[in-house]
Amino acid sequence: MIQDISPKKLNNSYSVKSVNTNSLVVLFKGGKFLLKIDNDKKEISYPLAGVLGLDIHYTYLFSIDDEDFFYTDSEAVNIPKDFSFYDMRDLRKDYLFPKHYVFAAFTAFQLIEWYEGTRYCGRCGSLNENSLTERARVCPKCGKTVYPRINPAVIVGVINNDKLLLTKYRTGFAHNALVAGFTEIGESVEETVTREVMEETGLKVKNIRYYKSQPWGIASDILMGFFCEVNGDDSIKMDEEELKYAQWVPRKEIELQPLEYSLTNEMMKIFKEGLL
Ligand SMILES: [Zn+2]
Repeated sequence: MIQDISPKKLNNSYSVKSVNTNSLVVLFKGGKFLLKIDNDKKEISYPLAGVLGLDIHYTYLFSIDDEDFFYTDSEAVNIPKDFSFYDMRDLRKDYLFPKHYVFAAFTAFQLIEWYEGTRYCGRCGSLNENSLTERARVCPKCGKTVYPRINPAVIVGVINNDKLLLTKYRTGFAHNALVAGFTEIGESVEETVTREVMEETGLKVKNIRYYKSQPWGIASDILMGFFCEVNGDDSIKMDEEELKYAQWVPRKEIELQPLEYSLTNEMMKIFKEGLL
């Protein structure tokens, strides 16, 4: 999965760090990253602060082993040769290396979305400041403190004997997926599983059990994967507004996604391979 970068390790705890010439920079503007992607070698590079300029404003994001990542949206940078702006889709077209740089982009995306979305206090409209002791935005006027927000969501593998319930979304991602959705306020994640399967396919489920989770920065979410069995009637009544396909697919016929980045793909794969 995207977060499997072992033996490297992401350290996303709050820390006061200063940028230096070797710091990696996530320059993010208009939904795009400044990167160098070598399409022949399938290699990805981040610009260095020493090249972009040390006299602009940087925000420390996280480290992966001894590599520190900083964010800037400054206009006053020297764009290095061979670097261009890429969006998240460009990072998911093919496997790029090193893999931890791809995970870094997903994680940076989520953090930067949070920094940009909390520029102003949601209660009184004042300009927020960064806390000096933790990852938080603090309003200097009314004191409201905002922490990074992570949205819980579920991925559900519904099993019917030797078949798995596969779906395809009506818009966007074109490959096979599983039932998925966000948790509502006041709901347990097990209730999210039951509700989403009912809403998308009209099926009742039983024997809900947790599998694994995955941080998925694109929607600021933490995805929690569950397997369960269909309970009773297995005829599918598809939500045609959300899905264009929902079908029971025999184990051997499951077509996996092109890249092994997603929890969804891993869940489809272990079922296909009879590991469940
Ligand atoms: Zn305020």
